[in-house]
Amino acid sequence: MELAKRVQSLTPSATLAITAKANELKAAGHDVIGLGAGEPDFNTPEHILHAAKSAMDEGKTKYTPSSGIPMLKEAIVKKMKEDHALTYASNEVIVTTGAKHALYTLFQVLLNPGDEVIVPTPYWVSYPEQIKLAEGKPVFVKGEEKNQFKLTPEQLEAAITDHTKAIILNSPSNPTGMVYTKDELEAIGEICLRQGLLIVSDEIYEQLIYEGEGHVSIAQLSNELKERTIIINGVSKSHAMTGWRIGYAVGDATIIKAMSNLASHSTSNPTSVAQFAALEAYTSSEDDLGPMKAAFHDRLEKLHEWIASIPGVYCEKPQGAFYLFPNVQEAVQSNGFTTVDDWVKALLEEEKVALVPGSGFGAPDNVRLSYATSLEQLEEAAKRIKRFVKSHQ
Ligand SMILES: *Cc1c(COP(=O)(O)O)cnc(C)c1O
Repeated sequence: MELAKRVQSLTPSATLAITAKANELKAAGHDVIGLGAGEPDFNTPEHILHAAKSAMDEGKTKYTPSSGIPMLKEAIVKKMKEDHALTYASNEVIVTTGAKHALYTLFQVLLNPGDEVIVPTPYWVSYPEQIKLAEGKPVFVKGEEKNQFKLTPEQLEAAITDHTKAIILNSPSNPTGMVYTKDELEAIGEICLRQGLLIVSDEIYEQLIYEGEGHVSIAQLSNELKERTIIINGVSKSHAMTGWRIGYAVGDATIIKAMSNLASHSTSNPTSVAQFAALEAYTSSEDDLGPMKAAFHDRLEKLHEWIASIPGVYCEKPQGAFYLFPNVQEAVQSNGFTTVDDWVKALLEEEKVALVPGSGFGAPDNVRLSYATSLEQLEEAAKRIKRFVKSHQ
């Protein structure tokens, strides 16, 4: 049987192969340290669990409107107003089955065959695949390490063609942890307006910024930019709720309506009780974020120092998310490996530390380390990586 062409070229997630290998080693009794995680290592806060249980007990287990329960949409409207001074109506909000499905649905309703979307590299693994599934064409623009991997206005200008429909911005970034400043966004926004581009702004790590001027949404910069921007966000990273699958998109009512129509034929609605859990996350006065953020910040400071001290490893210090994205090319070469992928594999086999090779993010000279694990584990991992690099020199 032949599968549809659209899935034949799908690349499996970059973390998959390494995770499978790590699990194999773990099952064989090895002490493996996994730095591949793309999710917080904290549990969902107790009061949120409680809200979900109450929703179940109260029978809130039926279909909901496909764009989400009105109370949650109102809570998102309020959050946008309070956190970003952005005013939206509730028909400009759709709740989705995770931010990932918001992006998937968005590309499906935006793109015609051949439409181009500018994707700065390094990129989050799902963007190119989702664009291709919508028959669009990802156009990669290389974020240079000297610019903290961020897209420059010159680069953006040079990548635009008659077919360019949209651009993706992801600040703070997965995998680099870098954050765009207001000035940088202004320069990019000016070009987007002049060229009539839509802006897909993935702000899922918005709450996890540890230094610098903090989060700015490009939609905040002017009314014109707000009209051209679809913001993607969700509770996965901010409230340690990855498994609940609640995300959302806000923006132009026509686009949101089309997304809602499509969702009504694909997911029907995000899980009812998970929506009530997210409602609690956004309306409660508990400080869920504070302790998590403090722990991430502490780990960032220490892990960055440990990693940057390894010979042949060059690491820009990020301001947000929970990843480091060092360039290991020099270490790989001096260790006698041809590719970073081979080096990562040998590191796992010999020292039992699992990293994600940068090739999956469109940056083959780098690796991604997640610090969503304990400080003890991070310190031990850094020691092992250093020992590995030295033993191969
Ligand atoms: C985790 C992540 C998402 C998806 O989050 P979900 O709401 O769990 O689907 C989207 N974008 C980026 C950059 C992410 O890291």
